Amino acid sequence: MSSNVSKESVLRIRNFVEKYCAKSGTTTHPDADITEAVVLGLAHHHETLGKPLCPCRFYPSKEEEIKHRTWICACDDMQIYKYCHCLLFVNDDGLPITEYLPEDHEGRKAHGLVKDPTPDLGRPLRHKAEEREKERIERPS
Ligand code: SF4
Repeated sequence: MSSNVSKESVLRIRNFVEKYCAKSGTTTHPDADITEAVVLGLAHHHETLGKPLCPCRFYPSKEEEIKHRTWICACDDMQIYKYCHCLLFVNDDGLPITEYLPEDHEGRKAHGLVKDPTPDLGRPLRHKAEEREKERIERPS
């Protein structure tokens, strides 16, 4: 799939990732192949769906999913909890930040407690956690 992605789309996503790292106080993964795979997946979705839908999840219908903003990068989990399950935005050790996740969240179970090295940055939608958890129950995606 990703081989069909245009150079422009890839550059656009790379540019977004660089800016979003700075804005959120995160970094890309030390393994550049991980970053590249996610970037190509986002670029592919941007081209085929018109939105950079998160490439690391399964959706019964991508067209339906993009009507919500939940998994459009930077997704709600990133903007609320600073958690990126694709490992695109991580700390210097390549771990996703899990500090703000609810304790029963899959990210906490998978990675344990990972503190935020830059608590003053990111999480512009932090006030939406309650809404997000309601959605997680009512519209699991
Ligand atoms: S988990 Fe969220 S922030 Fe990370 S790549 Fe997917 S949409 Fe983007």
